[in-house]
Amino acid sequence: MDIENQKEVPLAAVIGSPIGQSLSPDLHNYWLVKNNLKGYYIPLNVNLKMLEKTINLLPKLGFKGANVTIPHKTNVLSMVDKLTDRATMIGAVNTLHFNSSGQITGDNTDAYGFIENIKQKQPHWDPKKGPALVYGAGGAARAIVWALLHEGVPEVRISNRTKNKAISLSDILGAKVKVIDWTNVDSQLEEVLTLVNTTSLGMIGNARFSPNISKLNSQALVADLVYNPLKTDLLKTAKSMGLKTVDGLGMLLHQGVPGFEKWFGVQPKVTEELEMFLQEKCNVTI
Ligand code: NAP
Repeated sequence: MDIENQKEVPLAAVIGSPIGQSLSPDLHNYWLVKNNLKGYYIPLNVNLKMLEKTINLLPKLGFKGANVTIPHKTNVLSMVDKLTDRATMIGAVNTLHFNSSGQITGDNTDAYGFIENIKQKQPHWDPKKGPALVYGAGGAARAIVWALLHEGVPEVRISNRTKNKAISLSDILGAKVKVIDWTNVDSQLEEVLTLVNTTSLGMIGNARFSPNISKLNSQALVADLVYNPLKTDLLKTAKSMGLKTVDGLGMLLHQGVPGFEKWFGVQPKVTEELEMFLQEKCNVTI
């Protein structure tokens, strides 16, 4: 589809509060230009009081859908007409689709983004080969644990500073999810073939995160959801040990693909050029 043949101008938004920090407008507007498409993607600062009204109004104003970000990813669960299976399992919504009669579907593309990024960057990763270890049990962890199980990882071990949160996650996601003491992770490392940091540790402004991973299996893949800095201490250590690594920026870009495709009709590409563009836009530290 190109600009001359497009009859209507599709609209999409990202809804959150605050919203100025969101990279989504830069990402989607880059794809609109790259694909020579008409369309607009705008940031909307919406508080909880206005959230339901806004979501119901957008389809009437010509919006095809929206992304949902902090703090509304769980708030919108009860405000949509339908949830996809993965949004139900992950317990949060980050993408909305509106159909022509205004019906609202809530989806979650974080797990998809995480897996697609690994498949693009580390195509030989075989999730079925052995257990995974996930640090953290917050909102992002739930998507990652679900994604790993969905890809066939035989067992996911979660370790979180607040153990009760890890226990709740394991109760929700089933028997293949085991809880490991935050202080006893070392004993697990030899078997682990996928290791993921989903905590906010290591992010600029937060405490550093350099767990001792010297005993980690030499075939392991190490992924960090933190994308600023891009090369976290955890990833630097893993690289120096010769392990395969994946950073957090690629996940952020891939999670935008399904929404863009539904709203604007073209599957966009995640390229090195796009990654560099966004690194510069958001002053990501390398
Ligand atoms: P969240 O729900 O607030 O969870 C934060 C997690 O970090 C919890 O497990 C928390 O443990 C842990 N944590 C925080 N401070 C800690 C400390 N000092 N010591 C030990 N553990 C600590 O946040 P979230 O939404 O899951 O996001 C987590 C990170 O993932 C953020 O950095 C976010 O930017 C990143 N993220 C990246 C992407 C991407 O596309 N790359 C997508 C989503 C999220 P407690 O339970 O003990 O507090």
